[in-house]
Order: sequence, then structure tokens, then C-alpha cells
Amino acid sequence: MMEHALACETNPARLAEALSGVNLIDGRLVPARSGETLPVVNPATGRQIGTAAASNADDVAAAVEAAQRAQPAWAAIAARKRGTMLAECARLLNAHVEELGRLVALETGKALRTESRVEASVVADALQFYGGLGSELKGESVPFSPEMLTVTTREPVGVVGVIIPWNAPMMLMALKIAPAIVAGNCVVVKSAEEAPLAVLRVCQILNQLLPPGVLNIVSGFGPECGAPLVAHPGVRKITFTGSVETGRLVAKAAGEKLIPVTLELGGKSPMIVMGDADLDKAVAGAVAGMRFTRQGQSCTAASRIFVHERLHDEFVAKVKAKVDAMKMGDPLDEATDIGTLISREQRNKVLAYIDAGRDTPGASAIECSALPSDDALKEGLYVRPVIFTGLDNRSRLAREEIFGPVTCVIAFENYEDALAQANDSDYGLAATIWTRDLKTALDASRRLEAGFVQINQNIVVQPGLSYGGVKQSGLGREASLEAMLDHFTHKKTVIFNLA
Ligand code: NAD
Repeated sequence: MMEHALACETNPARLAEALSGVNLIDGRLVPARSGETLPVVNPATGRQIGTAAASNADDVAAAVEAAQRAQPAWAAIAARKRGTMLAECARLLNAHVEELGRLVALETGKALRTESRVEASVVADALQFYGGLGSELKGESVPFSPEMLTVTTREPVGVVGVIIPWNAPMMLMALKIAPAIVAGNCVVVKSAEEAPLAVLRVCQILNQLLPPGVLNIVSGFGPECGAPLVAHPGVRKITFTGSVETGRLVAKAAGEKLIPVTLELGGKSPMIVMGDADLDKAVAGAVAGMRFTRQGQSCTAASRIFVHERLHDEFVAKVKAKVDAMKMGDPLDEATDIGTLISREQRNKVLAYIDAGRDTPGASAIECSALPSDDALKEGLYVRPVIFTGLDNRSRLAREEIFGPVTCVIAFENYEDALAQANDSDYGLAATIWTRDLKTALDASRRLEAGFVQINQNIVVQPGLSYGGVKQSGLGREASLEAMLDHFTHKKTVIFNLA
């Protein structure tokens, strides 16, 4: 356990510097064994704000060994007590929400007011939620024979490897580490190379209360640091959030070892606006659902919007007016609604999709919102949000995950047509439908191919609500009680022969 209470540091640049170049292993901040680092860049300015340890298999092995050493004693603590400790962690973290929000805004470019501060508070919520579930780690008694007592127990899997992306790094990490830790496992997190600092800070804060080795975090590139974590023989479970492409590699490597894997992957989430929908509510839902506040870098972003042909033009005009009123600029400015993309590579990818859309016959690109000042634009990774109309659901823009401020609005004639198009996708993460007709809502909730369906509201991820996808959007569920039981424990059957 770290010895001193950490003071809050709300200057994110100072914090980024202080956290530079280290992993957290066995309760201690240590550099990579090779001494190598990778730069961490502020996407709003293009300037380096710090470094992260560029870890390799040696650092991963040290972290896994620390977790293995700590795990038996951690599992021996009563489950409810582990939960209480996590709830205390949540209280501690609550005091750091502002500093964490500012730090994640600095390293990811997500606007502080609309995105980053919210993410920091969800982290504390997730710890609080799972902290209350210690007593749910219970088994059953099975009436098997009068001379035998047959029971099942819930056992931790051991050491869990956690691999996360950069788009909501703290929240995605919390939804994995909290259930794993309460269930009696010890954890090694591999952070995303683009956003390693805020998650490191969360782990540093939690290590003040958790015994050393229970929660470890290493940073580095995927092949050098993520792959050795999956391959390490001491890791008994992998939980991964990221792209389909990487998810496939991770699942393959986990399959070689025959260990279970949970995958939260990409999305191309449909929103259906029926002809009887409350138009203004649907417009507000679309603007929030498109996640332009995060430059569309959200796996659940409403990136395909099917609108009844009668409402189509008015819908598009109203959405555009609302997005036009949003302010794009410095992510740390309280007045900013929309921040930046994460990296130059991501920006180039998004711009290439926009160009491809413009070149598609019949498509119109409707550009929204003013860009920030020329000075900011020179360095910052801003992209003006674009709404495409006139695209076919079979076009590249409607099929591939863009992960940028781009959405397609597609007109439909009738419900069956909208439903068929919504389901015609490789992905199946989230879906929404907007209608006043209960029968249509119920039918859509049953037939939409998605792990998460919402009626007359946009995407909400909250601890307690099971979350995850079907088709190429993933395997397994997160954020709920079942996530803890199904993914971070195994069921043991015990028979006492009393004869
Ligand atoms: P990514 O797949 O490139 O990287 C994710 C993580 O995997 C990173 O930490 C990376 O270093 C690591 N990695 C890369 N190669 C690896 C390897 N060979 N072995 C082990 N680890 C490896 O994804 P990204 O670009 O960081 O994130 C964006 C993607 O994440 C999008 O597709 C998005 O939809 C998805 N995502 C899904 C959810 C969800 O809940 N379903 C949430 C957020 C993001």
C-alpha cells in the first residue's frame, strides 16, 4: 500500500509530468526495465505533455508475478470486506474527479465539461456499484442425496489481464477492474498507448487502499506489451475492449491457452426515427447519441440514423442547427462542447472517409458547426462534424466503423424496411428506436440485433445495466452483477459425503 494520501493536483500538465515514464507494479511506481518511454501528446496542441513507460514482456512478467503473489491473500479476505474496501476506494476517488477529468481531457482531447468530467465520475460510480456486490458471490446447495451435502461456490479465476483503448480509458478500465477485484482476483492492466496517464493516476489513487500487487498497470504498445500479457501463463482470464481486428488477435491467443476472454468491440449503432416520433426529442437524442462532443469516438455512437421519409428533411435541418450551436475548441475550456480527435492517424482516417462519402454518387455532405480559430487548427486535431444524406446502407460509410464525427441519415418508407436495414450490419452493439407506438417499440426491442436497445432515449451506459454486443461487437457482458459472476469467477461443485 502507498504510504501517503495523495494530494489533488488540478493542473493536468504538472500531473502528466509527475506521472511520466512509469508503470505501477506491486504498489510501486517503476520505469520500464529497458528504460524506454513513449511520448504522450496533447491532441489539442500537438505538443508532448509527458511520457509513458514503453513496457515489454519483462515488465509484464514482473506485474503478473506481483499479482500472483498477492492473489491468495486477497482471495482469503471475506468477499464483503473486499467490497467494502472497493467502496472506500470509490469515496477516495470521488475527491479526485476534477483532477482526473482534467488529466483525461488533456491526453485525449475530450471536452472537460461534456465528456471528461463525466467519465471521471462514472469511474467512482462503478467502484461504488461493485463494492456493494461482495455478498452476491454466493453459491447454491443442491439436493443430491440424503447422505451428501452438495454445494457450489464462486471462486476467483486468479490473475486477470485487462486491455483497454483510449476513448474512455478510465471508465472502461473501472468496469473491468472493479468486478475482477471484488471477486477476489488480482489484476494487470495494459493501458492504451495514446492515453496512459489518467488510468495510471486512478490506479495510483486506488493503491493507497488496496494491498500491493492487487492492482498493477503497465503501459506500452500492443504487440510489445499487450500480446505478452495475453500469452503469459500466469494470466487466467483476459478482458479486452478495442477494435474488432485486435479483438480477433487477442481471442486467438487466449484460445491457444484455452483461457476465457471477454471482448467489447466496435459498433455501427442504428437509430430509427418512426413517422410518429416526437421529432424534437428524437433530434435531441440524435445529437447526444452521435457523440460529436467526443468527435464521434464512441463505440455506441448513433452512426446510422434511419428517419421516416416524411420527417427526413426537417430532422436533418434541426440536427444541423443544434450541432451548429455547439462550440468546438480547447478541451479544457468550460465553454467547449466538442474537443479533438485522438491522433493525427485517426484524423487522416476520418478525413479519408469523408472524402469517400463526398465522392459517392447521390450523397450530400452537410457540414456542421464552425471550426476553432486558425491558430488552434494548425496544431489541434479538430474535424468539423459531417452529416451524410443520400447514402445507401450498403455503402462503405454506413458499414464500417469510422470513429469520427460522421453520421449517415438514411430515409425509409416503412418500419420493416427500417428494421431490415438497421440489422443489416456486421455489428450489433446498441440500437435506439423513437416512436409513440408501444407495439412498434416492443416489436423492435425484440427484433433489433443488438446487446443494448433503448426506446425514446439515447445511449446510456451505467453500472448495473448489462452492457455488450452481439455479432462482431463482442462476446460477453459488462457493467452488471452477471458480469462479475460470469466473467471473473468459476463455479466449483463440492460434495461432502456424510455417510
Ligand atoms: P485497438 O484495438 O487498436 O487497441 C486496443 C488496445 O489493444 C490497446 O491498448 C492496444 O495497445 C492493445 N493491443 C493492440 N494490439 C494488441 C495485441 N496484438 N495484443 C494485445 N493487445 C493489443 O483499439 P483502439 O483504437 O484503441 O480503440 C478503438 C476501438 O475500440 C473501436 O473499434 C471502438 O469501437 C472500440 N471500443 C469498444 C467499446 C465497447 O464497449 N464495445 C468501448 C470503447 C471502444
